[in-house]
Amino acid sequence: MTDRPRRRATDAVRPRAVVSGAAGFLGSHLSEKLIADGWDVVGLDNLLTGRMENLESLLGLEHFSFEHYDVTNFVHVAGTIDAVLHFASPASPVDYLEHPIKTMKVGSLGTHNMLGLALAKSARFFLASTSEVYGDPQVHPQSEDYWGHVNPIGPRGVYDEAKRFAEALTLAYHRSHGLDVRIVRIFNTFGPRLRPADGRVVSNFLVQAMRGEPLTVYGDGKQTRSFCFVEDEIRGIVGLLNSDYVGPVNVGNPNEFTILELAETVIDVTGSSSDVVFEPLPVDDPTQRKPDIGLATSLFGWTPQVQLREGLERTYAWYQQELEARDG
Ligand code: UDP
Repeated sequence: MTDRPRRRATDAVRPRAVVSGAAGFLGSHLSEKLIADGWDVVGLDNLLTGRMENLESLLGLEHFSFEHYDVTNFVHVAGTIDAVLHFASPASPVDYLEHPIKTMKVGSLGTHNMLGLALAKSARFFLASTSEVYGDPQVHPQSEDYWGHVNPIGPRGVYDEAKRFAEALTLAYHRSHGLDVRIVRIFNTFGPRLRPADGRVVSNFLVQAMRGEPLTVYGDGKQTRSFCFVEDEIRGIVGLLNSDYVGPVNVGNPNEFTILELAETVIDVTGSSSDVVFEPLPVDDPTQRKPDIGLATSLFGWTPQVQLREGLERTYAWYQQELEARDG
C-alpha cells in the first residue's frame, strides 16, 4: 500500500497520529488534545509507568484506539499515519533509577523504532526530549544552544544520555533521510494524572501535605526548578508540532522557585499542618534549572498562562478526588 502524503488537522479527512506512552501523564493529556484538535490517535504503551486510568476519557472514543505494546520492539501500525509522537519513557528520577535499562532501551531502541515507523509512513516525527539534556547546567537560564553538563555514568545518566542519543538519532534521520522532525525539551511539568507515588517533587509534596506527613526536602532545598502546568506544556507541544522548525525547542515555565519555596506554597495551598524534613540530596541533582523560552515564543507565540499557585490548586483538587477514591 502506498502511503498518502501527510495531512494536517485542517484537511477534511482527519489526520492520524501514533502516540507512544499514551497511558502516561503527558501522553494521555496529549492524546486528548490531539483528538480535540481533529486528529485520530493510536495510543501505544507498555504500562510500565503508564496507567489505564489515564485513558478513561479516551477509551471508547471513535477517534482513539489503544494497544498495550512495548515500542522497544519493532513497531508496525496499519494504515496511513501523519505524525509519530514518541512520549514513552519513565520520566521521574525514582522510576528511571528503578528501571535503568528499560529507560535506556526506550530512549534508544524505542526512538529508532518510532523513527522507522515515521519514515515508512512519510509522517512527521516528534520527540519528547527533556531539560535533563542540560544536566547540572553551568549556564543559566538554559537556551537551546547550550550543550549541557551531564555525568554520563552517574545514576541519572541513563535518562539524560538516552534522551541525548534520541535527539542525535532524530537529527540523523532528518539529515540522512530528509525525515520531517520536531524535538521538544520538556522542563518540570506537573498537574492532574501525575501518579501519587511517581516520586517527583510536586506529587510527593502534595501527597505528604494531604496526609499530614512532613514534606521531604532533599539537600538544603535551595536548588531551583521552574514548574510548568500540564495544560500549558501540552499547548506548547502542539504549537511546536504544527510549526515548521526542525531542532530542539524548550517548552517550560521560566518562573523559578527553590524547592523550599515550593514546599511552603504546597503547605499553604493545601492548608496542611505538615512541617518539612531534610533528607540527603540525590547524586547529580541539578542545582538550578530555568528555561529560556524565547525560541518557542518567537516561533509559535507560546508563553505559559498558568502560574505555580493556580496550577497547584488545580492539581490539589485532582489529588483530593484521586486519594479519596483510593483510600476512601
Ligand atoms: N525533591 C525533594 N523532595 C522530594 C522529591 C524531590 O526535595 O520528595 C527535589 C529533588 O532533589 C530535586 C527537585 O526536588 O532537586 C526536583 O525533583 P524531581 O524528582 O521532581 O525532578 P528533577 O527535576 O530532579 O528531574
